[in-house]
Amino acid sequence: MTAGKIIAYIAAAILIFFGVLFIWAAFDPNTPDSWLIGGLITVAIGCVLIWLASRRGAAAQAGQNVTLKVDLPANVNLDSLKCKSCGGALTMDNIQMVAGAPVVTCPYCKSTYQLTEEPKW
Ligand SMILES: [Zn+2]
Repeated sequence: MTAGKIIAYIAAAILIFFGVLFIWAAFDPNTPDSWLIGGLITVAIGCVLIWLASRRGAAAQAGQNVTLKVDLPANVNLDSLKCKSCGGALTMDNIQMVAGAPVVTCPYCKSTYQLTEEPKW
């Protein structure tokens, strides 16, 4: 995780936090309706920041993926590799190396989890 990404996440968290506070305060009849709009905009900006930060991370991982693919543990049998959540068949393209560990991203149910090295499945 890069410093820029961490700053983006923290800024997004602060924006969403204050946005929610504004929306919450807007339910008070004494506060003007514009607070609700301001709160919604603030939360939206925070969400966009997280989205941008996660997209940049995904792009960096994709670059890493090409070189690290070969280093997958030999005892992981890819022929019988199935999604833990939905049982869908997975390929090498669904596995990314994150912090030195193989992480599966299921194309069917979109769940992500760390690949264990148990040869059973
Ligand atoms: Zn799945």
